[in-house]
Amino acid sequence: MFTQFALHERLLKAVAELNFAEPTPVQVAAIPPALEGRDLRVTAQTGSGKTAAFLLPLLNSLIGDAKPRVEIRSLILLPTRELAQQTLKEVERFSQFTFVKSGLVTGGEDFKVQAAMLRKLPDILIATPGRLIEQLNAGSLDLKAVQVLIFDEADRMLDMGFAEAIERITVECANRRQTLLFSATTGGAALREVVAGVLRDPVHLKLNSVGELSETTRQQVITADDPMHKERLVQWLLSNETYQKAIIFTNTRAQADRLYGHLVADEFKAFVLHGEKDQKDRKLAIERFSQGANRVLVATDVAARGLDIDGLDLVINFDMPRSGDEYVHRIGRTGRAGADGLAISLICHNDWNLMSSIERYLKQRFERRVIKELKGSYQGPKNLKASGKAAGTKKKKIGDKKDVKKAAAKRKPSARPNNAPSAVVSQDGLAPLKRKKPASAD
Ligand code: AMP
Repeated sequence: MFTQFALHERLLKAVAELNFAEPTPVQVAAIPPALEGRDLRVTAQTGSGKTAAFLLPLLNSLIGDAKPRVEIRSLILLPTRELAQQTLKEVERFSQFTFVKSGLVTGGEDFKVQAAMLRKLPDILIATPGRLIEQLNAGSLDLKAVQVLIFDEADRMLDMGFAEAIERITVECANRRQTLLFSATTGGAALREVVAGVLRDPVHLKLNSVGELSETTRQQVITADDPMHKERLVQWLLSNETYQKAIIFTNTRAQADRLYGHLVADEFKAFVLHGEKDQKDRKLAIERFSQGANRVLVATDVAARGLDIDGLDLVINFDMPRSGDEYVHRIGRTGRAGADGLAISLICHNDWNLMSSIERYLKQRFERRVIKELKGSYQGPKNLKASGKAAGTKKKKIGDKKDVKKAAAKRKPSARPNNAPSAVVSQDGLAPLKRKKPASAD
């Protein structure tokens, strides 16, 4: 019951209006210390109810402020526009019986309209770091009166290169009395540095331990020969599985676009979401997917960050995520609230070792599945180490004399002029690429 928390009656009324019967584990753990004014470091993923876990104590402190002031009194910083928009919606729902005003500052929206909104001094400002810094540089706002500073998905903000922006914004909020930091994963050294720099004697709550992966989600792997084979497998799965909504994760924008193109050509009602899509397209993609007009979304991790979509019951990892935490984050979107979910990872030979490390990290063995009609030649490594990784895959030492000779012999007939760019064959062997930079993740 939410009445267990010392929350203002207007907030309890809003919670009742929303039909939230029981607080989620992250709410039970985080709301009391946040109400006491403690700094928090919380590891919890999208779907855990983390937004309410920080919004309810924040709104409580704003309502309870003895002398209501017209200043920007709190700042919520998060990585993507979509997450910012979703958070604004949550603020509006929880603050519907209060006079608390909120505003949004994100890229992709009109700069001057935002500056005008900032002049009205919202109590809660919800922002992405890049645009907030631009507005700060333009002198549109002052953060000196911010009392509560909240970082949501701090790990992802750091992944996106916002470390400096976070540092600057933290300095601007020098007078704050409380800082709450939420991340989906436990993060690495960069996150530890931020935690040490911005939090004072924080309470550390770890909510999305591996054990919290929904037990109702089946986890399967299907081996594939190459990306083209993976594309055929995706098409087969989308045509033959029973699902309400499916999301397919790729590690690169290029692969997301390519797969999307194939699906649309095959008359699947799909959308693609990645960092290069403009704001209008992104909004439309999310809306149509949420409403069920499109049942298939192809996305990169960054673009899909923070999406909370009802009825998502099929997740396909076209590429294996790069860490166990990221896997949990992707898969955690299915099988919510006891509903059945299915997570399928497509595994080429170069995904195998990553897949087996994730299995060990999760202390689980994924179900091996074969689709008869599309059985390829790769069925996993011939020999396995005790760890489950492929045996005998040690890299050859570069500079082995015999190899150098062989390579030189092969190069001889080349007619390429000395300074001509060499065509680099992409990892997937699909198309020769004339680029040196690796494809950006998002
Ligand atoms: P979040 O993890 O904050 O993205 O929340 C995921 C979804 O769960 C949002 O749609 C929330 O409105 C909803 N939610 C949060 N807390 C509760 C609760 N205690 N009971 C039911 N739904 C909730």
